[in-house]
Amino acid sequence: MISFYPGPSKVYEQIPKYVKDAYADGVMSINHRSEEFMKISSSTISLLKEKLFIPEDYTVFFASSATECWEIITQSLIDNTSYHFFNGAFGEKWFEYTKKLHKLSIGYRFNIEAELKIGDMDLSSEKGMICITQNETSNGTRVSTKRIAKVRKQYPNHLIAVDATSSMGGVELKFADADVWYASVQKCFGLPAGMAVMICSPQAIKKALEINERKHYNSLPFMIDKMQDWQTTYTPNVLNIYLLQRVLQKVKPIDEVHKKLKTRLKKHLKTVDKLKGMKLLVKNPRVRSHTVVPVSGEPELIKRVKQKAKDEGFLLGNGYGSHKENTFRIANFPAIKAKEMKALHEFLTAVD
Ligand SMILES: *Cc1c(COP(=O)(O)O)cnc(C)c1O
Repeated sequence: MISFYPGPSKVYEQIPKYVKDAYADGVMSINHRSEEFMKISSSTISLLKEKLFIPEDYTVFFASSATECWEIITQSLIDNTSYHFFNGAFGEKWFEYTKKLHKLSIGYRFNIEAELKIGDMDLSSEKGMICITQNETSNGTRVSTKRIAKVRKQYPNHLIAVDATSSMGGVELKFADADVWYASVQKCFGLPAGMAVMICSPQAIKKALEINERKHYNSLPFMIDKMQDWQTTYTPNVLNIYLLQRVLQKVKPIDEVHKKLKTRLKKHLKTVDKLKGMKLLVKNPRVRSHTVVPVSGEPELIKRVKQKAKDEGFLLGNGYGSHKENTFRIANFPAIKAKEMKALHEFLTAVD
């Protein structure tokens, strides 16, 4: 079965070998306060910075999921309010989580065909974090790096947090244009679930220490303190950190990875465009995701195609949230091979 699910998704085919190596080298049993661990952790973080073009002065943390990152940001980086711009289920969930702790947080929903327009409201006299979902996995839209740069320019003194869960590792992001970025690894990174990375600017670190929230095991000041020694506040998913290290050693720099994904996406969109009874859910090419492509159609047809695909060895992603019945989703993640995508195209073109 080839998985085109946009998370948990197809893992790199080298993963079984790396797991074996991890076992043979004792990685699965190392102590998370040991020299061996600190070496793996620091090397993984260096590789992340090198391959994804993360500024040297940003701090990388390990967390257990993107959901946990929502919580860390909410408890440790927002002192009063936040502004959430979203057009789909994940951005909305982030807002809902935040609202439980910060009643004043505000959500702005925008249309899935529209580009994020933050200029409609003036936040310049307001304090509070700006929260953006860069790649909305539920509906296959994205906020371009140019848009995020605009937000940065307009609001240089606000902290900006970006959920890049289903794009980081596949898409070139301009980390300098925001203060907090995070992603769990079971999507674009092509790894098994159970870990996330969270990347913070010096401004975000400063703010966390100012707020100095220390009520939780994953309060950011504790994480900052432990990360001075490449460690975590709890026993982390050491195996997944190791696997991330091995994958990062192997992958090309992110600009090359992204270029390849974009080329493949073009072919992919062309194929989907010609399918009978089905069309791309997102019509505006400027907001279409590079990594998650939802295809829409009559619920009956969608159901049939998903089942037939499964019978043929292709796992398509179910629709999500309000698009559950009338879409399936196809991941365009780096761990998926060109020939696998081609095989899927042949299947889709022939299906009826
Ligand atoms: C999958 C996803 C999440 C949640 O990730 P978990 O690892 O399950 O916590 C959050 N945001 C986006 C955009 C996602 O795609």
